[in-house]
Amino acid sequence: MVDAMTTSSTATTSAPAPEVDDDDFREILAQTRAFVRNVVVPREQEIADTNAIPDDIRNAAKEMGLFGYAIPQAWGGLGLNLQQDAELAMELGYTTLSLRSMFGTNNGIAGQVLVNFGTDEQKAQWLEGIASGEVVASFALTEPGAGSNPSGLRTKAVRDGDDWVINGEKRFITNAPLANLFVVFARTRPADENGTGIAVFLVPADTPGVQVGTKDRKMGQEGAWTSDVAFTDVRVPASALVGGSEDVGYKAAMVSLARGRVHIAALSVGQAQRALDESVAYAATATQGGNPIGNFQLVQAMIADQQTGVMAGRALVRDAARAWVEDTDRRIAPSVAKLYCTEMVGKVADLAVQIHGGTGYMREVPVERIYRDVRLLRLYEGTSEIQRLIIGGGLVKQAQRG
Ligand SMILES: Cc1cc2nc3c(=O)[nH]c(=O)nc-3n(C[C@H](O)[C@H](O)[C@H](O)COP(=O)(O)OP(=O)(O)OC[C@H]3O[C@@H](n4cnc5c(N)ncnc54)[C@H](O)[C@@H]3O)c2cc1C
Repeated sequence: MVDAMTTSSTATTSAPAPEVDDDDFREILAQTRAFVRNVVVPREQEIADTNAIPDDIRNAAKEMGLFGYAIPQAWGGLGLNLQQDAELAMELGYTTLSLRSMFGTNNGIAGQVLVNFGTDEQKAQWLEGIASGEVVASFALTEPGAGSNPSGLRTKAVRDGDDWVINGEKRFITNAPLANLFVVFARTRPADENGTGIAVFLVPADTPGVQVGTKDRKMGQEGAWTSDVAFTDVRVPASALVGGSEDVGYKAAMVSLARGRVHIAALSVGQAQRALDESVAYAATATQGGNPIGNFQLVQAMIADQQTGVMAGRALVRDAARAWVEDTDRRIAPSVAKLYCTEMVGKVADLAVQIHGGTGYMREVPVERIYRDVRLLRLYEGTSEIQRLIIGGGLVKQAQRG
């Protein structure tokens, strides 16, 4: 079976040299693979039952640098580029998705806002803590009525002397119950011909007026937590405005989300590989009428469809990650990869349950958990419908521009 370890290469012709060379990266990938498969996979049921990542796994992830794999080395991270990030995500995706979620916001949607748009002072203040895992950062964009269309967000930030005062409600915020830092998108003026009027602020979770709601009860991904976050007269200094500009917020959100789409696509490939492996192992041994079910051609056909999806997804992820790193496509390719891979893993997980028969419908069977866990991938960081709008709309606009 072809998988991420056998074909990994980060060599490119026109991309900037990665901070981590191929030899070091191979070592990081091998260690991560061993951690995922030998340490986390055997504890998946415990994580599901307790709805928590055990402290020893959290600490091991910190020590391995997994809270900061995508943070530049200058700020204490491992400094992986997006091609390497995608290879790592295909490994992380092999186990419960809640593992990746624990450090996903630090490396991804929240951390990348600081990496790409923060001032040097803001980076110095926060990034080392984020990279080490001492700081958990959450990305607070979504609001009731402003999910797929974040430009409609209503959280407000009003200037008061040297400070900003923030009021508003956010929902479904990953890692909010654990967060030390909220990366909060807020409107400083109504949208006008100059832009969306959306800025982004760094708000420590212990700032008076920040209230984190109770943990959401979700369909899956036990061990990963989300909740509402309310901001009531939350006062932050001018230095909390990311990039020192009221105009970077919307762009920062869009860039972080686009980058994150390649990562989510890679995670989907990892989880699809796991569902496939579980399916093949089950089909090879479970019997009906004395025959292993894997001898039935209709079962083989399901496995063939799974394998085809996994391989196509992996190739697409690598292509999209390369296009990002080479800066040839940072808009359409991430959406294509996310759309295809998240839909693909949904189908692969569904087939995995089918191959397992009634057993696949039972709790404590990995494919049952995978089936529920992957449903989220088509919803967050842009639904499949939003990806289609970005792809189709983007191509038509390109043609209209000539
Ligand atoms: C577990 C979880 C974790 C999350 N983590 C975070 C987080 O850390 N930070 C954060 O900010 N957000 C987070 N989110 C929010 C997530 O990004 C949004 O839920 C998602 O973008 C969809 O927005 P919505 O829920 O408001 O649904 P809606 O936007 O209301 O979508 C409902 C349906 O309408 C469709 N739709 C909407 N607009 C259009 C359109 N223009 N054209 C066609 N169809 C459309 C959608 O595709 C969907 O099918 C999380 C969500 C969940 C469930």
